[in-house]
Amino acid sequence: ERVISSEISNYDEPYEQSLRPQLLKQYIGQDKIKHNLEIFIEAAKMRSESLDHCLLYGPPGLGKTTLASVIANEMDVQIRMTSGPAIERPGDLAAIVSSLEPGDVLFIDEIHRLNRSIEEVLYPAMEDFCLDIVVGKGPAARSVRLDLPPFTLIGATTRAGSLSAPLRDRFGVLLRLDYYDEYALTSIVERSAELFNASIDYESAGEIARRSRGTPRIANRLLKRVRDYAQVRGNGHISLNLATEALELLQVDPRGLDHIDHKLLMAMIERFRGGPVGLDTIAASIGEESTTIEDVYEPYLLQIGFIQRSPRGRIVTPSAYEHLGMPLPIERND
Ligand code: ATP
Repeated sequence: ERVISSEISNYDEPYEQSLRPQLLKQYIGQDKIKHNLEIFIEAAKMRSESLDHCLLYGPPGLGKTTLASVIANEMDVQIRMTSGPAIERPGDLAAIVSSLEPGDVLFIDEIHRLNRSIEEVLYPAMEDFCLDIVVGKGPAARSVRLDLPPFTLIGATTRAGSLSAPLRDRFGVLLRLDYYDEYALTSIVERSAELFNASIDYESAGEIARRSRGTPRIANRLLKRVRDYAQVRGNGHISLNLATEALELLQVDPRGLDHIDHKLLMAMIERFRGGPVGLDTIAASIGEESTTIEDVYEPYLLQIGFIQRSPRGRIVTPSAYEHLGMPLPIERND
């Protein structure tokens, strides 16, 4: 398992909950989203109404689940959490929505994975706060309308494009979470260190932030590993030296790349002169699935501009060559 994976792992689960901000003012970064939400929340409270349904989308580990709980806390309501794959039958969803209290938040993670028959139940629930239930079978079957308390659906997805248009259109608020900049991530590391009771320099927090791929989940995981290292090798205080040593031991380089990123880039450079090279060809050359490269390895390299997509395939950019200390191929040396 990669230490820089943005997906949650068994290692993260025990402590992630304790690091979650409770209120908007503790939620670091994502300023545009916070400003919008502040207004929507205040307006809904002034009218004593439930908040409009919100869709949160963006890569894993950026704080969608956290933001959903923050919204519920700010609205002073309960949150009920589930996920697309966990809702197997329309009856499962009916049971959940009919147990909500007025104003409650229903959080559905991975909402793009809901199946169509369940989406159909969700539409009237979102639009008119009611359920259309079919009772009886055959010619005697009839539809019964059941009223629900008003509630707020918060959907989270890493793939907004995979959501069906009718479902997407029923969200009043669409919020896209972006990767965090170094400044915001440094503050997140400092805040988490405080909650872990760990003492850390500002420079060390910055060093962890720079290697965290713009992702709070990774920043927290690296912090936890670095803290262990500082405890065993030092006196517990996380100095820049100890932080750098620990991160090197974890094989996370100064831009947050690990051995797999290096392997991918070096294969493209050494075997294909840096590209353009097709995804399937790269995949075959390093013995990985094309989909794994596309979904897991490549997004961060694209985001930091180390790889570019072109109609003829992927290209390694000059900044990646520079980062790896590799000379550009002659014909590209312009
Ligand atoms: P996934 O969809 O993969 O579950 P997510 O986007 O829902 O990811 P969270 O579980 O909400 O991500 O966040 C991961 C961790 O990062 C949490 O422990 C949380 O404390 C921390 N975190 C996320 N966003 C922030 C933030 N803005 N400020 C402080 N900590 C944050």
